[in-house]
Formats: sequence, C-alpha cells, structure tokens
Amino acid sequence: MTKVRAGEWKPPREKLDARWVGDFETDQEADQGVGCGPGVRPTKLQKKRIALANGMVVETGLGFCDVLCNGERVRCRTEGDVATGDQVRFSTERHRVEEVLPRRTVLSRSDPHNRRVERVIAANIDVVVNVVSLKNPPLRPGLIDRYLIAIGKSGAEALVCVNKIDLLENADEFEPLLPYETLGIPVIRCSATTSEGIGQLAVALAGKLCVFAGHSGVGKSSLLNALDSGLTLDTAAVSSGNQRGRHTTTSSALYRLPNGAMIIDTPGIREFGLWDVSPADVRRYYSEFEGRACAFGDCSHTHEPDCGVKAAVEAGEIARERYEGYLRILQTMSDRGDTKL
Ligand code: GDP
Repeated sequence: MTKVRAGEWKPPREKLDARWVGDFETDQEADQGVGCGPGVRPTKLQKKRIALANGMVVETGLGFCDVLCNGERVRCRTEGDVATGDQVRFSTERHRVEEVLPRRTVLSRSDPHNRRVERVIAANIDVVVNVVSLKNPPLRPGLIDRYLIAIGKSGAEALVCVNKIDLLENADEFEPLLPYETLGIPVIRCSATTSEGIGQLAVALAGKLCVFAGHSGVGKSSLLNALDSGLTLDTAAVSSGNQRGRHTTTSSALYRLPNGAMIIDTPGIREFGLWDVSPADVRRYYSEFEGRACAFGDCSHTHEPDCGVKAAVEAGEIARERYEGYLRILQTMSDRGDTKL
C-alpha cells in the first residue's frame, strides 16, 4: 500500500468535482457538523496544542479515510473502526483521525469471514435504501428481511427501491413486494435505464443522508448515475450463468446530489450477516407480530400453542413468506449457536 503523507494526496477526479469543492454552506450542513470551526470543547490533544478540525468521513479504505472539511477532502490515517458518514475530529498536522464522535444511527453487519466482528457499513444515516430487482438478478426476499432487521436496529428509516422495472412484463410480478408495502415501508419502483421513477426516488431522498445497500448487480451504481447526470460510476453486467452481479464498488463512498441528498454507495454484497441481533430482537423488528395475542408472554412464535402470530398467518393477516423467512432466520441463528435472548 502506498503511504500517504499529509497534503500529498490528490483525490480521483470523479469524486472531487463540483459536488465537493467549497459547497457545504447551508445551515443544515453546518448542523450536521460538516466543516472545521470553533465551538468545540478542548480535548487532551488540543491542550497539547495539536490542532484538531471537525469533518465528515466520505470514503474509507484500509487504514485511511477521506474526511470532508470546509468543502475539501483530506486524507487521514485511521487506526480504529471509522465508517462513511462518521463525524470525526482529525489532527490537521498529522492528518490522523483522533476521535470518532458519537453516532446518531449505525448500520452494521457481521464480518463474512469472522461473524464475531462488527463491520459498520455507514453511520449517521437518515435512510437506508435497500435496492433490489425482481429480475436479473432475481428478488431475494430473505435478504430484504435481514436488511429490515438491521435497519430497525440502526435507528434509520427503511426504503425499498425496486430497480430494473423495464424488465417486467406484467404488474403481477410486483406481488412479492406487497407484504412490505402493507407494513408501511415505502417501496419505490424505478428503472435506471429508462429513468422511470427516478424523480420520485430523488424526492424521497432530498436533503437526507442515505445509504444504498443491496445485492451486487441490482443497479446501485446505475441509479446513482441516473440521479446525477454528472456522475459516471462504473457498472458491471450481471453474469448470465449465476445471475450475480460482479462487484464494481469496492469501498463505501459518499456522493452529493444536486438536490442536497448525500448518498453512500456500498460494495454489493451476496450475504448479509446480522450483527448482534438476538431472537428477541428479530421478533421486535417484525412489526406485524406486534400486539398479537399469544398464550405465552415470551412466545417465540415457533412451537408454542395458542400463538397469535401463527393464527394471524393462517388467517392471511400476516404474509406467509415473511413468517417463513422469520423461521429461517431463527433456524440459522440456532444452527450457529446464536441463541442469546
Ligand atoms: P450494482 O452492483 O448494484 O452497483 O449494479 P450496477 O449499477 O453495476 O448494474 C448492474 C447491471 O445492471 C449493469 O449491467 C447495468 O447496466 C444493469 N442495470 C442497472 N440498472 C438497470 C435498469 O434499470 N434496467 C436494466 N435493464 N438494467 C439495469
């Protein structure tokens, strides 16, 4: 890895265009802590006369991150776990992140290679946009369900964006998404190719810090390109053999759209491991289970008699696919020994 020294780094042109240079001037942006400035209590480092500045992490990599401060990107070394969207204090001389400020919301997953390790996907986000497609690649409702649990835990709002609707032939194909609409989760249908629905998506994201998350190949980078004609992010065809996308985005990066939306694009993932979620948490984030009358107060809705949730599934009040997905999640947790209640 090339060592980056203070002031030496020149960001790639694509990510340092008009979106980044000196354009964080509004009150709202100031409120979000973007930019250097006074009003910060002196820390130990400041007492030692090490100049600190505040900024927001806009891109992360191995051992470094790029911090946006007064409209400029500064590459800083980092030793701890820093995520895109984090508000940090960094030393302006050492170009090093010294402190990560408390996170308002945090979207995490477990490390695919070591599920006991947390991987923070993004911090301080308002909305997590779960991008999906119904065809090419096909829909994976189980992945949406896992995202919804992680989003519930994150404290952010959920939005499902169904891309590639130009590939659909009839309205019945949207059926698998109805349970989510019934739960009150906004589901926006669009096509990055034809631009249908892109305006509606832009309105839903305006002025918010959002993260695009979803299976690789569903069109996250293409949607960003469609939302901002000034962007030309790389996209990659879904291979016909396994219907999987290739990973074109390799690290999380933040983009600012003309309507003030700030969007964190994340690397496409194939598996989404839940982080620090117990079976009781899983139940909590299935909002359709709430208020169902079960004989046992701590009913797990699996094997117990007189279970209000199972009765509601039989009565068609709870979508069977969602309930079956719930059982699969519990089964996976039990297989792994994650039975913390
Ligand atoms: P990502 O991995 O989620 O970022 O997906 P990409 O943006 O790289 O897109 C994967 C493939 O899907 C590329 O070949 C895109 O051209 C294609 N694609 C993206 N959006 C659409 C769409 O709305 N309709 C169709 N038909 N193809 C799309």
